[in-house]
Amino acid sequence: MNIFDQAVAESGEVLKRLSPEILQINVGKLCNLTCLHCHVNAGPKRKEIITRETIDKILDWLETTDIKTIDLTGGTPEMVPDFQYMIERIRGFEQWRDIITRLNATIINEPGYEWIPEFHKKHKIIIIASMPCYSPDNVNEQRGEGVFDSSIKAFQQLNSLGYAQEPDLKMHFVYNPNGAFLPPSQETLTIDYKQAMKEHFGILFNDLYCITNMPIARFASYLKRNGELEKYYDLLVQSFNSKTVSGLMCTNTINVSWLGEVFDCDFNQMLKLGLENPDELESKAEDKSLYLWDINLQKWTDIAIRTAKHCFGCTAGSGSSCGGEVA
Ligand code: SF4
Ligand code: SF4
Repeated sequence: MNIFDQAVAESGEVLKRLSPEILQINVGKLCNLTCLHCHVNAGPKRKEIITRETIDKILDWLETTDIKTIDLTGGTPEMVPDFQYMIERIRGFEQWRDIITRLNATIINEPGYEWIPEFHKKHKIIIIASMPCYSPDNVNEQRGEGVFDSSIKAFQQLNSLGYAQEPDLKMHFVYNPNGAFLPPSQETLTIDYKQAMKEHFGILFNDLYCITNMPIARFASYLKRNGELEKYYDLLVQSFNSKTVSGLMCTNTINVSWLGEVFDCDFNQMLKLGLENPDELESKAEDKSLYLWDINLQKWTDIAIRTAKHCFGCTAGSGSSCGGEVA
């Protein structure tokens, strides 16, 4: 039993997989930015992106399920050449699905991506966009020079199309700390953010999600360079909150890679902590990875969630998930 499972067991809680409600697809690692906190190590030179063949295999499987939300992450999902194809196929399904894109808003201002705002509006795509601070210095420090101004311009454009104003055009922001500390209260920060964004930039948004930085990939290297990795882990472990366990995103989400492999969450995907195909375990097959199209949803809840020390990043304080605070 690892140290995280031990903490959960001692608290009397049980980390249990439920029926999946969200399919999160990490469409690849290509991005125009190289943010310090990025757990994907995404960047402009990354070659890993989903192919049309994999999109079709994922969507063929999805169409047979009742999973109601598709959450697209990356990288910058819109940089995948088949992004529009993927959305149009989902909108062709008989059953309505909510589609979320984890948008890096600066891409809207890059040549060749001018189609994004109108396209997202037309297909009622829910936007979740990173906005780690309402002050330019902190954002530029964490995400790169010029990112603040470019994001502001993009959000103003999205507002002008009705985002965060019309009920079916949702735009949420994500805050994550600019260093080795936990996010403040989501409720309090939302009030400050709403006021500052409106007053200074005339920007409206729906909800603010506070997300804890996960000590893996680029953020772990940053902490290591500053001699803060161990201290940050201690903070996460000491801040364990058992009330978050039943609401962790791995309980109701299937995370899938650009190749179609299945994981419990995007963090496990980056750490290559994959799930194994129960039907292949006894066989001589070399690749025992579980691929999305091989999942039998009747047996899904029998597969244990793979945990490790980084899971304390999800249970610290008020907890952290792709939808912000947990408890
Ligand atoms: S955090 Fe988002 S915008 Fe920044 S490099 Fe990673 S994927 Fe790109
Ligand atoms: S890191 Fe992933 S597996 Fe671990 S608690 Fe968080 S969501 Fe669950």
